[in-house]
Amino acid sequence: MQTASKWRYYPWLLTRPTLLGGAGLVTILRLLPFYYHAGIRIVVSPFGEIENDVFVASLRAALEILREFDPLRYSRVRRCIRTVHATRLRRAIAGYWPIGRMCEVNWPRILGLTDQSTGRVLALADVLVHEATHGAVFARFIAYDRARRHRVEALCKKEERRFRRRMEETMPRVTERVTLLLSP
Ligand SMILES: [Zn+2]
Repeated sequence: MQTASKWRYYPWLLTRPTLLGGAGLVTILRLLPFYYHAGIRIVVSPFGEIENDVFVASLRAALEILREFDPLRYSRVRRCIRTVHATRLRRAIAGYWPIGRMCEVNWPRILGLTDQSTGRVLALADVLVHEATHGAVFARFIAYDRARRHRVEALCKKEERRFRRRMEETMPRVTERVTLLLSP
């Protein structure tokens, strides 16, 4: 017997106990100092040994690059991400919590990828594009479980690649903009 669809729609709230952990985390993060950019709350973990200024400037530049060079994905990022939390994660480069629409970024890991500020800003923009795609999938009540995981990740990576291709087409201008955005 065949099931109606491999992609069954049901509320993700009931599917993952970790979501409740996300709600707790979002509540705690509300107590920390924060910055705002384009309606997105930026919080830096006090435990990650992260330089606030560098991270916040890089994230702002990443959002500006998205706004200027990829408006469609920028609007998805704004719709699906309410809070960006810079922290140190054990393995992943980033994560997404549907409750609170929060994107966690492993900033120390991004710093380890490259010495160049343009590279870091673009890696951050990649992360935003990827995690916002997760947000868009959650918003359609598609659960992130073992059966769907690979398809969802493939979709998010595809979006990342499309964004990258767009950046590569206009690279000299992008680099110029990032340099200007990061200059004091
Ligand atoms: Zn992912």
